[in-house]
Amino acid sequence: MLHNDYIMGFDTFLGNPQAVRLVRGMLASGRLPGALLLAGPDGVGKKTLALMMAKALNCERRRDDFCGECHNCRKAGEMLAAGHEDLERRRAIKDSGRRAEGLVYFDLQLIEPITRYILIEQVRQLRNIAYTRPFELRRRVLIVDQAQAVHWQAVDLLLKVLEEPPDTTTLILVCPNAFELRSTIRSRCSQIQFVPVEDAIVASLLEKEGRVNAARRALAVRAAAGSVARAKSFDLAEFDRRRKPWVDFFDAVGRAGKPADVDWRALFDSTKALTEDRESFEETLGMGYSLLSDLIYILETSDDTRITHVDLVPRFKAWAPKLGLAGLEALKEGLDEAYRSQIRNANQQLGLEALAIGLLTR
Ligand SMILES: [Zn+2]
Repeated sequence: MLHNDYIMGFDTFLGNPQAVRLVRGMLASGRLPGALLLAGPDGVGKKTLALMMAKALNCERRRDDFCGECHNCRKAGEMLAAGHEDLERRRAIKDSGRRAEGLVYFDLQLIEPITRYILIEQVRQLRNIAYTRPFELRRRVLIVDQAQAVHWQAVDLLLKVLEEPPDTTTLILVCPNAFELRSTIRSRCSQIQFVPVEDAIVASLLEKEGRVNAARRALAVRAAAGSVARAKSFDLAEFDRRRKPWVDFFDAVGRAGKPADVDWRALFDSTKALTEDRESFEETLGMGYSLLSDLIYILETSDDTRITHVDLVPRFKAWAPKLGLAGLEALKEGLDEAYRSQIRNANQQLGLEALAIGLLTR
């Protein structure tokens, strides 16, 4: 992904208006804290807003926004593109021990995990340049994305920079959950909390993109669960493909009152289809969990306004009372067990079949 696709300014940012207002207020007053922490769920635009902030801090024409056209705005865009290219090149290096060799950071730099972690070399480089004047831009902005992935060996070094905030540099940490960071790191940053994007905003985005037809848009909105990124990459055909075996599975289990009534063939066929795709078994299980949580919600509240699989409500209402809370909890235990056995690389299909049999012979 290139980072120049939001050249239009803060008005194009979707959702989280309070976070945007806060940031623009800071920019307008010229009192931006030395270190910021943007925290909140994946896919809501935390990193995007951090990058927008970096441009606004440097734009020659606007104060609480950016034009995308002036020399600095374009320069910032080039730096991001070059940084992105460098990261891709490093991630492709086979010997992971050599991926952080010879790091060069720009005035605007997005620092992301090169391996599973943000390495000590990366934080060392951050510290080296944080106290120097920017070379080309007005203000240096270093953004640490996935700050929870800073390697434990590098956390103290990062803390040192936060304890002696450099006056030439703004540091922006980005992470899903602020509590995954050490409290000493957290307390040194001004925190901006993001929330899931409202359904209405996601719906209008999907409508504008026109990839999902109107009849199924409500489902896509719920499946995106407040994530703009997930909405943008939502693939309805893939979603249906992944969901179908689960629907068959719940259908077979939900319809059968007594073991004698079970259509075992259908059940085993559906579990077989579920477990064929081993590479994405985790996502497949995630789909099971999401159906199950809808079923539990329907059973407990009879409310269908907050469920994900809006198109399945009539079926949920038929299945849920038959399975009962105990049955649904047994299914959840079964999914947990399937998840654990996936980690142990065991035979997943066997697990699901045993679960179904256990459930029906209680
Ligand atoms: Zn500009």
